[in-house]
Amino acid sequence: MSTSKSASRTARRIVIEKTGDASVMRLEEHALASLASDEVLVEHKAVGLNYIDIYHREGLYPLTLPSGLGLEAAGVVVEVGSAVSTLKAGARVGYNSAGVGAYASRRVVKAARLVSLPDDLDFTTAAACLLRGMTVEYLVCRTYPVQRGERVLLMAAAGGVGLLAVQWLKRLGAFVIGCVGSASKALIAKQHGCDEVILYRSESIAERVRAITDGEGVAVVYDSVGAATFRAALDSLKERGTMVSFGNASGAVEKFDLALLSQKGSLFITRPSLLAYVASREDLELSAERLFAMLATGLKVEVADTLPLSEAGEAHRRLEARETSGALVLLP
Ligand code: NDP
Repeated sequence: MSTSKSASRTARRIVIEKTGDASVMRLEEHALASLASDEVLVEHKAVGLNYIDIYHREGLYPLTLPSGLGLEAAGVVVEVGSAVSTLKAGARVGYNSAGVGAYASRRVVKAARLVSLPDDLDFTTAAACLLRGMTVEYLVCRTYPVQRGERVLLMAAAGGVGLLAVQWLKRLGAFVIGCVGSASKALIAKQHGCDEVILYRSESIAERVRAITDGEGVAVVYDSVGAATFRAALDSLKERGTMVSFGNASGAVEKFDLALLSQKGSLFITRPSLLAYVASREDLELSAERLFAMLATGLKVEVADTLPLSEAGEAHRRLEARETSGALVLLP
């Protein structure tokens, strides 16, 4: 049974009708679909902006157009479908895997994709860390479970995912080498726990890694930069090391000959995506639990800035221009 019938059935949202630069985003008022029995209407209080939104907007990851944008938000349940027994109006919730369309003032989503927010987690912080924090969880705990004392190389270490990953890896007891794009980002990465920092726009990643690790190389590379760093990442691994390629901020990784992995030391490689690691309710809850437990240990979520929903274009511009450290959040 619906718990509220008074909510007006429209929302403001960002829509794209074609792919391209930030100017393709348009704010519109649109009619909300009526609730299916397993769905919930959520009033968004904060919307997370992620690099993947840029891949969607540009067309690198194709969407059916016209389309909304955005994968992550936090807010309050307004109305629940007739079969939803786990949530009621007023519940504080968030999500990171309910399909595109989070850049909106309110949205209808499947109840099964929502997680309940801890009381002490404010909406802005939640929107800054549900997608990135659960990404870090699966990368360091499940894709390649990092062991105490292992040496790890992390690209874009001062970014949104990066700063959370640095802190999480330090709590696992890893030695963290972070790559960053500027001296000011190097300072931020160090302040969050990086043991060594490489300025990859001016220094050779592989040479620095070999020097730092007495020639051995690292056990695992977490690479979200893609095209510009792929080869250097492979060259930084120790024998039988693992390459985790999880993003393409500089462009998609080139096609390569599988024999390369054998030539460079019997390497392992994987190209994971958050969606596969939180697809089941069990995995979503596990990931959220681990993230909330980490936050309770004092893991800092850096919010670079908050902007109104209408300024999503400016937020995209800043993220693409590599101007941000931490996460940008849109406030509907
Ligand atoms: P970030 O805040 O990390 O921003 C991206 C950063 O990438 C920039 O700040 C910049 O840092 C670096 N970068 C390097 N080269 C470029 C370039 N040519 N253009 C733009 N940026 C560049 O973003 P997010 O925290 O949102 O995401 C980080 C990465 O993780 C993204 O690649 C994203 O796609 C990926 N991701 C993957 C997931 C998955 O499951 N596979 C899930 C979530 C995120 P610097 O200036 O220091 O180089």
